[in-house]
Amino acid sequence: NFQPAARVTRIKPSPSVAAAARAKELKAAGKDIVDMTVGEPDFDTPDSVKAVGIAAIEAGDTKYTPVNGTPALRKAIRNRMAQRTGITYGDDQISVGGGAKQIIFVALMASVDNDAEVIIPAPYWVSYPDMVLANEGKPVIVSCPESDGFKLSAEALEAAITPKTRWLILNAPSNPTGAAYSDSELKALADVLDRHPHVWVMTDEIYDEIWFEDRPLSSIVKVAPHLADRIFVVNGVSKSYAMTGWRIGYGVGPAPLIGAINKLQSQMSSCPASMSQAAAAAAMEGDQSFITDCVKVYKQRRDFAVASINAIPELSCSTPSGAFYLYPNCSGVIGKVTPEGKTIENDLDFVLYLLDSGVAAIHGAAYGLSPHFRISTATSTDLVEEACRRIAAACAALK
Ligand code: PLP
Repeated sequence: NFQPAARVTRIKPSPSVAAAARAKELKAAGKDIVDMTVGEPDFDTPDSVKAVGIAAIEAGDTKYTPVNGTPALRKAIRNRMAQRTGITYGDDQISVGGGAKQIIFVALMASVDNDAEVIIPAPYWVSYPDMVLANEGKPVIVSCPESDGFKLSAEALEAAITPKTRWLILNAPSNPTGAAYSDSELKALADVLDRHPHVWVMTDEIYDEIWFEDRPLSSIVKVAPHLADRIFVVNGVSKSYAMTGWRIGYGVGPAPLIGAINKLQSQMSSCPASMSQAAAAAAMEGDQSFITDCVKVYKQRRDFAVASINAIPELSCSTPSGAFYLYPNCSGVIGKVTPEGKTIENDLDFVLYLLDSGVAAIHGAAYGLSPHFRISTATSTDLVEEACRRIAAACAALK
């Protein structure tokens, strides 16, 4: 007769984690499935980084660390942030946690209650709305259609702000679209924020290294440094260095917010794993050629997959500027009938049909913008090719 707390009944399990688990189960049961749900690099953590983790364990670096991370990790974070933003963050402006996911959750826990509003541009990373709900906030979803490049406009931001707005969450390059804001787009958002000093910005930059454009990736903290006292930057090592299982993420921003986060962390986890912190610091401070090599491969897969999807008459796909996902539009399959006689009413029906056709993907409704579906290219190049073949065959079989 366990009764979960209201914060649990308000939320749902992560749809992307659930879809990945379903694909794994079907594969384990012997079904031939190409899993395009994965949200983690298919590459292994670089050997040089693993070696630092192993050496840390052997050297007895196996104890609690300060709540806000080891000095070595903090230094690596400070150096990287200074390099990318020109801002030098002090020790009281850095928090570390068990992945960017935990940092975002704790930042919301530290700042949101009593139905405070959090503006979330859609399509969004599946976890933001549920994290806001779990922490007694109110997600305010703002639809950002493909015709706007899946990006929040200044007008839409202005219209969404109320006296109860606490945060605007930005995520670029975006999961699921790979879209990213230009300097001028961010300046326009910053102009709106200038008029609303009670609104803070959480900018989730976890995919910032997976970037395909010739121009540098922009960030609101670079474009509007005068807003730094209400910008919280989130990042981590999971995606850039293929370190998802090491669980290290970080957030930098105003000292009062960081203090509140660290106070919660001191009661929640004490600190992330000591050996993971050593490995993460080494990854950030060491040779960065691993990233360049991975990005080259992600870009080849992106180009192949975008071209393949766009060659399918019922689908269309804009080209992501970063990250390792595609978010094709599937409006052309809505209303069509599968060989089994089922009408495809929405993007969930379509991904279930794709699953029957041997491809696991995630439906757009989970990201707040339909009709779309997300496929990940963080899987081997051969599998990306096979998935595209299967999607094309599945679409061709629709009537
Ligand atoms: N933010 C976004 C947009 C993500 O896609 C993810 C992972 O899927 C995370 C944050 C969390 O990353 P981690 O907790 O592994 O650092």
